[in-house]
Amino acid sequence: MRPSTRCLQSLASRSKSTSFIGLGKMGYEMAHNLFSKQFAKSPDLQFVVCDVNPDSSRSFRENFLERYPNARIKIAADPHEATAVSSTIITMLPSSPQVKSVYSDAIVPALSQLPAELVQSTLCIDSTTLDVDVARDVASAVTQRGAQMVDAPVSGGVTGAKAGALSFLVGGPQQSFDLSRPILSLMGQRIIYCGSSGSGLAAKICNNLVLGVEQIVVAEAMLLGQRLGLDPAVLATVINSSTGGCWSSSVNNPVPSALPGKSPPCERGYEGGFATALMLKDMGLATDIAVNQRSPLPLGNAAKAIYSEVIEKKPELGTKDFSSVYQYFEKQS
Ligand code: NAD
Repeated sequence: MRPSTRCLQSLASRSKSTSFIGLGKMGYEMAHNLFSKQFAKSPDLQFVVCDVNPDSSRSFRENFLERYPNARIKIAADPHEATAVSSTIITMLPSSPQVKSVYSDAIVPALSQLPAELVQSTLCIDSTTLDVDVARDVASAVTQRGAQMVDAPVSGGVTGAKAGALSFLVGGPQQSFDLSRPILSLMGQRIIYCGSSGSGLAAKICNNLVLGVEQIVVAEAMLLGQRLGLDPAVLATVINSSTGGCWSSSVNNPVPSALPGKSPPCERGYEGGFATALMLKDMGLATDIAVNQRSPLPLGNAAKAIYSEVIEKKPELGTKDFSSVYQYFEKQS
C-alpha cells in the first residue's frame, strides 16, 4: 500500500525534527552542541527539548531563542509527544529505572501509534549509563516496533560535553550505528563502534571499573608516600614517569599541588569532576553484571564497598569528584 499524502507530509516534517530528552548536567551541554551546530541557523529544522523538570526545558528554550531568534525550539510536554514529532530521539537520563519507564511508558507506546512509514524512519539514541540487560530489553522493544536504536554512553564528563569532545561508545546493528554517527559527531570527537546492542554499555562499564579502582589505589599510594616523607609533586612525577602512571595519577591526581600547572578537581575543593555517587552507580553496574556473568571481580567489589562507605560516612563527598576518596582516607587515622 502506498503512503497517503498526509503520511508523506508527516514523514517530511518529522524527519526535520530531533528530540532531546533529559536536560541534566550532561544532556544540557550535549543538546547545546547539537542545537548550535545543526539547528541554530536552519529555521526549517526543529529542535525539541523535554525534561521531567519543565524549568530545564524552559531555560534551554529561552537561552537559545535569545541568541538565535529564528531558530525553531519546541518544548515537548512529555517523552510521548517528543517521539510523536521527531524522527530522531536522544535520551540522556539518570539510570536504568528512568530509561525503562521513559521507553516502556512513552517512547514505545508512541511508536505503536504511528504509521509504519514513520516508525521505520525513527532512530533512538540512548546515552544514559545503565544496566546492559535493561538497555538490551529496551532496544528490543523499540526494534520490534520497526524503529532503530543504539546505546551510546559517553566518556568525558561535563567538561567533554561542554566542549563537544565526548567519546561515544556505541552498541547496536551496524546500520543503526551508521545513522547515528553523524549526529553523535556533533557532540563528540571519538565515536567508537563496540558491537551489537548493549556493547557500548558493556565497554563503558568495563572502562569505569578500571577507573574506579585506579582512583582509589592512586589515593592510597599518594597518601602513603607523603606519610613516608615524600613531596606529593615528586611522588606524582615518579609515578607518572614510571609503570604506575595512569589518568588518575597524571590528570585527576587527588592531592593538591601534586600536578603543578594543572588544575584537577582537588585544586577546587573536589568540585566540577565526576561525582562519587555516579562512580558508585557505575561500580554497582559492574558488580551486578559480573554476578550475572559469573566473572570474578575482587577489586571491583572492594572499590564499590569503599565508594559506598565514603558516601555513607561523608555524604557531602557524594556530589564531589570521586578523587575525594583521598580526602576520606586522609582523615582516617
Ligand atoms: P542528571 O541527573 O544531571 O540529568 C538527568 C536529567 O534527566 C535531569 O534533568 C532529569 O530531570 C531528567 N529526567 C529524569 N527522569 C526523566 C523523565 N522521566 N523524563 C524526562 N526527563 C527526565 O544526570 P547527568 O549527570 O546529566 O548524567 C546523565 C547520564 O550520563 C547518567 O547515566 C550518568 O551516569 C552519565 N554520565 C554522567 C557523567 C557526568 O560527569 N555527569 C559523565 C559520564 C556519563
